[in-house]
Amino acid sequence: MRLNDFDTRLRSTFFLQGIGLCSNIYAIGDSEITMIDTGSNLGTNRIQEFFRWSDLQFASLKQVILTHNHFDHVDGLEEILRNSKPRVFAHSEDALTLEHKRSCRILGLADGDVIVTSLGHFQVIHTPGHTSGSICLYEENMGLLFSGDTVFPDGWFGRTDMPTGNSCMLLSSLKRLADLNVNILLAGHGNPLFQHAGKDIEKALNHARISLQKQS
Ligand SMILES: [Zn+2]
Repeated sequence: MRLNDFDTRLRSTFFLQGIGLCSNIYAIGDSEITMIDTGSNLGTNRIQEFFRWSDLQFASLKQVILTHNHFDHVDGLEEILRNSKPRVFAHSEDALTLEHKRSCRILGLADGDVIVTSLGHFQVIHTPGHTSGSICLYEENMGLLFSGDTVFPDGWFGRTDMPTGNSCMLLSSLKRLADLNVNILLAGHGNPLFQHAGKDIEKALNHARISLQKQS
């Protein structure tokens, strides 16, 4: 689905909704594509289908940003690397384990790094909690946040009970996101939000304060 049908500022931005155990996948650009997350390598991954219907070329894929090291977001990388040679980035906390598993070079990101795309400059925000190397990508002018599995629409947030998950850190990360001026939320699962997404993040923070503090 082309997201500029919903917000004209989101030119050349594509959304492949995850089905089953597969994350959402986003692609930005025509001639130099940035992909955010790759889905799983299960039959529900639609990367091949995407390149057919969008008329984009695998060879135009220049960079892949992985929001965190969970199979439903990173295993689709195998399909991508069979067809193209993009630079692949993840937070340095997750890059080493990913590299070991994938036998390909994963470039480490740190908080504050900037990813340049045809849609704008995205700031890397380290948001540990769901995993220790989880990141979000934020574009300030549009108030656009790619949030991986840290925060979702309707006040949901990432679980913290898997390896390297941490409830206190997730709370801090949600606080940090709530302080941004987020309008558009493109999360790792669920539907895109095109306006007032800050309210959903605030709701997630309140929800997390109650449920995670009860657990700790
Ligand atoms: Zn995850």
